[in-house]
Amino acid sequence: MGRGGSASYSPGMDPTYGAEAEAYRDQIKGFLAEHLPPGWTGLDSLAEDERASWLEQWRTLLHDQRLLAPAWPTEYGGGGLTPIERVIVHEEFTKAGAPLGAPTDGFGMNLIGPTIIVAGTEEQKRHYLPRILSGEDRWCQGYSEPNAGSDLAGLGTRAELDGDEWVINGQKIWTSEGHHANWIFVLCRTDPDAPKHRGITFLLCPMDQPGVEVRPIVNAVGSHDFNEVFFSDARTPRQCVIGEPNEGWRVTNQLLMFERGGDATTVPLVMRSLLDRLVEVARDTGQSTDPMVRQTLAGLESRAEILRYSGMRTLTAVLSGGAPGPESSINKVMWSELYQDITVAAVDLLGAGAAAHDGQAGHVPLPPDATGDNKAATWVNHLLCARPASIYSGSNQIQRNIVGERVLGLAKEPRADEGAWNQTLR
Ligand SMILES: Cc1cc2nc3c(=O)[nH]c(=O)nc-3n(C[C@H](O)[C@H](O)[C@H](O)COP(=O)(O)OP(=O)(O)OC[C@H]3O[C@@H](n4cnc5c(N)ncnc54)[C@H](O)[C@@H]3O)c2cc1C
Repeated sequence: MGRGGSASYSPGMDPTYGAEAEAYRDQIKGFLAEHLPPGWTGLDSLAEDERASWLEQWRTLLHDQRLLAPAWPTEYGGGGLTPIERVIVHEEFTKAGAPLGAPTDGFGMNLIGPTIIVAGTEEQKRHYLPRILSGEDRWCQGYSEPNAGSDLAGLGTRAELDGDEWVINGQKIWTSEGHHANWIFVLCRTDPDAPKHRGITFLLCPMDQPGVEVRPIVNAVGSHDFNEVFFSDARTPRQCVIGEPNEGWRVTNQLLMFERGGDATTVPLVMRSLLDRLVEVARDTGQSTDPMVRQTLAGLESRAEILRYSGMRTLTAVLSGGAPGPESSINKVMWSELYQDITVAAVDLLGAGAAAHDGQAGHVPLPPDATGDNKAATWVNHLLCARPASIYSGSNQIQRNIVGERVLGLAKEPRADEGAWNQTLR
């Protein structure tokens, strides 16, 4: 995707999926109807102590059915599905509130796996991909540092070669799932004399070693979802590099492009179910005829529909062979702010009652990147889970910069450098 102007922006949209795709959708619906427990409305419909074992069995079933990584090539254990079939799988699972794997699968399935497929060596593909699918390897993302977030290229974690090993020193932060992971993909500065976007290497590092320390950070919901990760002479084999040494910035950005087309139509579905629940809250509390409330609901409804159409536009571009491009920044800003505003409206409607456990609110799925999934059973928790949505995946200010510069063709923001991490997934 080139910079500077609107030439690469495709506003076309095809909201139809075609008969063959719809037949495939019926198959997936059939699979879900057959295998989900009766009365299923999401993980919350299981007793808390049943969830872990159910998830394990469910994951095994998806693995056997080759639905765990639907788009990966079959020779590495994936489903080999076409892009539209993959989107349909994601949509139907989202609608059903059915997880596409375990919570610890996200970084392996969605980020590092696809990156290895496009940028890894054959040996790396044969080694790492089956281990992600089997659940033996669980990954986390070591990008952000205390002094390098939006300005990711300003990262300071260093790696040096010592014989056949890289030795890593430094600190990462906000490392989601770091406490469940046994591998981390970590951006390291390997040539301190090079300009800052060069001299970065994309390393794969085992976490089960004395040189890697994971310290928990508890978020506002009270969940331990992310961490600080400290590297003190941590070691990883010389060949654990994706791409070439010092050329990690290209791989970094490749990683960030994955799964955008699929999310473009599934996030609107999540917002739709959250909004439907909000309307129920307005009815249940006798406020649905209040003109002010109706005005709020109508505004949210319009934004949910715009998001849906915008998602279809992104999907159309992806299915026609294009990259998601800067329009995914529009979607990101729209869904994250809609998510926040829906939860604020619910808390306004419910008042103090929003802090009470609401069995129904708990059944509303969270967007794929949201944290605190197990604790979202009150609207207040939903509100808190929604707050970071405008920060992770690249903050909304950064997304707006992208829209300004690349979609609207406005003058570039004056920057000391070109370091903005403007495409991040988390
Ligand atoms: C729930 C959650 C999970 C996360 N998980 C991970 C993870 O697993 N791995 C990982 O590596 N990181 C993760 N992150 C980190 C996330 O990517 C960063 O928080 C994000 O990129 C912003 O960086 P920062 O926090 O350093 O803020 P900063 O970059 O310091 O930004 C501070 C403020 O300044 C604004 N700002 C900065 N630069 C500009 C600019 N050029 N123009 C306009 N405004 C600007 C930002 O928008 C923000 O409001 C996670 C974050 C959250 C909240």
